[in-house]
Amino acid sequence: MRIVKYPHPTLYHKSRPLKRVDAELRKAIAEMFELMYEYSGIGLAANQVDLPYRVFILNITGDAAAKDQEHVLINPTILKFSGNVEVEEGCLSFPEIYAPVRRSEHIVAVAYNLAGEEKQYEVDGLFARAFQHENDHLDGKLFVDRLSPSHLLNIKEDLLALVDEFSGDRQRGVMPDDGQILARLAELERLRT
Ligand code: ZN
Repeated sequence: MRIVKYPHPTLYHKSRPLKRVDAELRKAIAEMFELMYEYSGIGLAANQVDLPYRVFILNITGDAAAKDQEHVLINPTILKFSGNVEVEEGCLSFPEIYAPVRRSEHIVAVAYNLAGEEKQYEVDGLFARAFQHENDHLDGKLFVDRLSPSHLLNIKEDLLALVDEFSGDRQRGVMPDDGQILARLAELERLRT
């Protein structure tokens, strides 16, 4: 498992709800936590590790030792949005790129955990922001899609550098073509969603 970077096609994939949680999914989620901590993240969505599942993980402390701060959000739904605030964000699929994103300040949401229990979240601040950022990933939406034109312009060169890197990977034959990537996602969806 590895984190895919912009503009990998899986980042644009709208994931379907998971129908079941099995040992393989639990293993994938454990690996996602390892990767998230390795790259000093506070959240990671399945799309970012090339999996088409409606699940993301959070630990807003970023501290691997703080197990009680770990959350697994399966098939999440945001029910209420309120307030509005612009704060700088980054994303593990856009290394070293940061830009201010406008999002709701407070949200109410529900999601299933790994035990299959439905949990309600009424959160604000960084938790609400990370929740919305990761939830967007499940719809194939990226934080750069939410930037104002001027903020987008500020990071344009950095985005083009990532596009160049991705094209380079394709040319060197270390990145499958779109058809192969989408066929794999369709097969995984057939098995679990
Ligand atoms: Zn992200």
